[in-house]
Amino acid sequence: MNRVQRPRLFWRTMFFVLFVSAPVLDLFRFDLTQGHFILFGQPWTLDIDAADPWHSSINLIVRAFLPLALVLGVGAWVSWRYGRWYCGWLCPHFSVVEIINSLMRRASGKPTLWQRRSLPEVQSDGVEIHPHKWMWLLVALTVLFFSVLWAVSLLSYLLPPLDVWANLLRGELTRNQFIFVGAASVLLTIEFTLARHLFCRFGCAVGLFQSLIWMGNRRALVVGFDRQRAAVCAGCDKSCEHACPMRLQPRQIKRKMFTCTQCQQCVKACENVNRLQGAPSLLQMVSGRCALDVSERDFGRRPAVPADCFQPLNRR
Ligand code: SF4
Ligand code: SF4
Repeated sequence: MNRVQRPRLFWRTMFFVLFVSAPVLDLFRFDLTQGHFILFGQPWTLDIDAADPWHSSINLIVRAFLPLALVLGVGAWVSWRYGRWYCGWLCPHFSVVEIINSLMRRASGKPTLWQRRSLPEVQSDGVEIHPHKWMWLLVALTVLFFSVLWAVSLLSYLLPPLDVWANLLRGELTRNQFIFVGAASVLLTIEFTLARHLFCRFGCAVGLFQSLIWMGNRRALVVGFDRQRAAVCAGCDKSCEHACPMRLQPRQIKRKMFTCTQCQQCVKACENVNRLQGAPSLLQMVSGRCALDVSERDFGRRPAVPADCFQPLNRR
């Protein structure tokens, strides 16, 4: 693990715990039985009174438009500068994607069922994974576990969470609760098994929103490729591509990296490939003028990105 993957693991874990526990702790949820949001234990209603339009207008602005504008504004600013940072560093769905990728590779040699060729068992970056068929059992149990956990968590955002969890643990879910948890678990099992990348790429509005804003900023943080040293790649087995949880090719231009989650797994792989030679990674996160090399249309026809855009030695 390099200097980035440790904090990333920390933040992803913390956010997953928050995702599951927020409704239970009454931090945030929408209670269908009461018909309003609950925020930090307090009812969050619009409090609109037809008899007092002035009061209602102020409430609408302060309790609906301003919080929404704040969330969208902060999200847009982060996406403009850092792209899908939320996906790679916080998203509870992407955390599951990474776990299942890793387990599937240990079961079959391929991180997804759709991958045609198996990845090398021993890679240039030092990663060594020898698949075992019995790992499929762990894949199945993990998919099932996260599908049910997600389904129950989603329900707990809508109904009193303590009732939902207590009913589940006692095996006494009501008919409607059972239908919701059952149907959502089946759909999530299919999605986690077959279409988890597809969902991240095209199915998630939050991811799409971040990618579209990021594409508009040519100077935003992006994976840069030191083209002046591209010959080094000839002796490598594309460890960066094998490491990418989104199955991207990290040496490509930004347009083809539309769904990059800024997870930096590719950077870590390249750091490991070059570490033995005491050389820096060819892939490094760049921004500002250094990002123009991969962001502009004439990529490859202009002089390579200036040497000072890349760190001479990796900070580990
Ligand atoms: S960029 Fe790094 S990890 Fe990727 S193929 Fe080249 S040397 Fe290997
Ligand atoms: S290209 Fe690199 S930073 Fe982007 S998703 Fe793939 S591994 Fe993560």
